[in-house]
Parts: sequence; structure tokens; C-alpha cells
Amino acid sequence: MDETLKRSLKAYLRHLQLLGMEDIPCRGDVPMDPERELQRLAEEVRRCRCCPLHQTRKNPVPGEGNPRALLVFVGEAPGADEDLQGRPFVGRAGELLTRIIKAMGLERQQVYITNILKCRPPQNRNPRPDEIRACIPFLWRQLEIIRPKLICALGTFAAQTLLETREKITRLRGRFHPWRGALLMPTYHPAFLLRNPQYKRDVWEDMKMVMAEYQKLTGQGRR
Ligand code: SF4
Repeated sequence: MDETLKRSLKAYLRHLQLLGMEDIPCRGDVPMDPERELQRLAEEVRRCRCCPLHQTRKNPVPGEGNPRALLVFVGEAPGADEDLQGRPFVGRAGELLTRIIKAMGLERQQVYITNILKCRPPQNRNPRPDEIRACIPFLWRQLEIIRPKLICALGTFAAQTLLETREKITRLRGRFHPWRGALLMPTYHPAFLLRNPQYKRDVWEDMKMVMAEYQKLTGQGRR
């Protein structure tokens, strides 16, 4: 088992312990129902008090979309609109993401959308390392359940967290990174694009690469 996987497993088990779980159910050969598993995970997120953000959130935002999505978008954290509605990417940045997804020839319901943090940091400040450490096991589990072939990391925090690097997003974007059997494309966050529309072309170049891979996968008849 490689070191990254060992660390993820250790963090996940510690996380379950903090949530009060004492036994790990063994599924044996019973096939997993991704929809049900994601619902269970969302309930755990709603009960979670593993970091101080539970004190200031209005609603946790576990994520939404197709439980068997080929493509998962991972952002940074919920903002004010998401916190109010309990849904990811529903504010202005969310509208832009929805337009990007449509421009790719897809609908929001076909992909899965989530964040590194499931609760809003006050005043939309940057996620803190202890908050990321506390929350990241939820994302690892979502990705284990959905098993996407393509992941799009939106913005610095998502890209750096998923790739375990401090490299800048400007150097990470524009190419696929192998990620546990999937391909990961880092790109700019839609909120950044709202402030800096001159980078939209870069994002579109990144998305064209994602679309090409997506079409190859669907051409193979999977999902
Ligand atoms: S941000 Fe994550 S770890 Fe912190 S309380 Fe919310 S769900 Fe739990």
C-alpha cells in the first residue's frame, strides 16, 4: 500500500472514530449502491462537528449530482448562497460553472459537484489546514463511492489538496494529472473568473481536454 493511500486510510478511520463509529461494516461481495452510500455520507456531513465551522454554518453542503458520474467537479468551500441553500455552486460562481458544464455539452445532473470543505468558512476566508484535514475524508469517500474517471479541481485549494502539492494553479492547470486511476484536470475557480474574465479562455482550453476524454469514455459505452 503506498504512503498516500495509507495516510488517507488513517485519516478516514480517525474521522469515523470522531463521528462515533466503533465498527467497520464489511460488505463482502454485496455490490455497493452509490446513491444510497452518498445519502448516508450526506447525513454524516449534516451531523458533523469535526471542525469549528459547524458553529457558524447555516447548512452543510455535502455535494450533489449523478452518483455514477464520470466527471466530478471539486471546488474549495461553500459560499453565502450555498450555505443558505445547502447546495454546491448555486451563487454567481455556480451560475458560471453551470454555463461551463452546458458549454461542454453536459447537464449539471450528469456530473457530480462538491467541495473540499463541506461548511462555509466565515466571510468566505480561505480554508485552514486543520479544517481541510478534518473534512477531507468526506471527499475521499465521495470519490471512492462515485469512482469518476475524470476530476476537475476548481482553483488553488482543490488542486493543491487533491494533488498534495504547493505548486501554483498556473503551473498545474492545462494538463491532466494521474489521480488514483482517474485523470485530474486543475483549472481556475469560477469565482476567480468572475473577477478575472481574461482567464476564461484558459479554462475553456482545459475543459476542451476534459470533454475529449469524456467523449472517449462515453464512446466506449460506459454509463
Ligand atoms: S467543514 Fe467538514 S469537518 Fe468541518 S464541520 Fe463541516 S463537515 Fe465537519
